[in-house]
Amino acid sequence: MGLIVAKFGGSSVADAASVLRVAKRVVEAKKAGNEVVVVVSAMGDTTDELLDLAQAVSPNPPGRELDMLLTAGERISMAVLAMAISDLGVEARSYTGSQAGLITDSTHGKARIIDVSPSRIKEALSQGAIPIVAGFQGVSQDTKDITTLGRGGSDTTAVALAAALEADVCEIYTDVDGIFSADPRIAPKARQVPRITYDEMMELAAAGAKVLHLRCVEYAKRFDVPLHVRSSFSDKEGTFVIADLADQSKLKNLSTQGVVMEQPIIAGVAHDLSDAKVTVIAVPDKPGTAAAIFQAVADAGINMDLIVQNVSSHGTAKTDVTFTVPRADVDHAESALRSVQSEIGFEGIETDENIAKISLVGAGMRSHPGVSATFFKAIADAGVNVEMISTSEIRISVVTRADDAQKTVQAVHTAFGLDADGEAVVYGGTGR
Ligand code: ASP
Ligand code: MG
Repeated sequence: MGLIVAKFGGSSVADAASVLRVAKRVVEAKKAGNEVVVVVSAMGDTTDELLDLAQAVSPNPPGRELDMLLTAGERISMAVLAMAISDLGVEARSYTGSQAGLITDSTHGKARIIDVSPSRIKEALSQGAIPIVAGFQGVSQDTKDITTLGRGGSDTTAVALAAALEADVCEIYTDVDGIFSADPRIAPKARQVPRITYDEMMELAAAGAKVLHLRCVEYAKRFDVPLHVRSSFSDKEGTFVIADLADQSKLKNLSTQGVVMEQPIIAGVAHDLSDAKVTVIAVPDKPGTAAAIFQAVADAGINMDLIVQNVSSHGTAKTDVTFTVPRADVDHAESALRSVQSEIGFEGIETDENIAKISLVGAGMRSHPGVSATFFKAIADAGVNVEMISTSEIRISVVTRADDAQKTVQAVHTAFGLDADGEAVVYGGTGR
């Protein structure tokens, strides 16, 4: 028995009935002899609804006020869950992120955690109560204003608390049974992965898998907190995210499945429909132009992902530079580039929002030849055109037309022998 930090996502606390179900589950975990700290997200689509409300009132609300509004969503969940648990005869106390000691920097909308001092949480635990913490929020060390950690940030709250409390495990309850080899919503043959490494999970999260927040996995890796991603709708064991599949000592007492011996070559296939492509046309092929382009985009605060540039074709001394950015930032990227167009001397800018990024991730790629060949053959056999390619040590990504995403994911999934016999269960929600 140990200390568990259990995080319940929006779809697990979507309505009163779900809140009661989660309350029962939390009380059972406590009665089994564990100390339990709960982290909650906002109920269902509350965060999106609050964002719509803000939009209806003000096209460009101040970050401070938007954060104040959005953190209300998690406060609703924490209070109603605490009430439901109290009705089951166990004391529960809700805490905002600030009360729970989540100290952040002052960047509204995507604040970073700089310290966690959960003295009130420890006190509640020592008094036998169940602390319920509002996810996704903290308080700025400098301004003392309320901040949010970015969409999906409750996962990160949970891991940060687990690290600070030295919990045995951080359980992330969601609406699917664990981490899948692809998104079961578009690849029904996706199979559940019993174990995955932090590195693979980070690549999958960065490549668009929405089941875990990227920063949550980075944080878990840094503090070596085992994550257990599982469904709040069933009792099945989910997926453990750990440092090294060969060393499962951290899973003692946590898993009933014993040691999983072999590291599979491929962990999964991720897809991402949230990017857009920007092409800078006829860039003078001379030292410094790429730097100037990327500096302009960086100065606008925009993250780039895939980048492609070739040497100029013979005799033209000009080349195109293409990269991807979050779709929400594409207009901003374009205007940033326009402002340096005459200085850099390129001819034009094209943007394209109808793209998908498909990524294959697996630690076994390092040591197995032929992975790229199988990957590109599967895509070719599906009749899909590849527009951009990028690789890391344990990932290959391609950009295709958005319409081809599902077909490509399924073809690659089949080609690597990942297809399950049955269909994956999706219990509801949007996968967030
Ligand atoms: N409620 C927030 C969101 O929808 C945070 C979270 O769910 O983790 O992004
Ligand atoms: Mg949410």
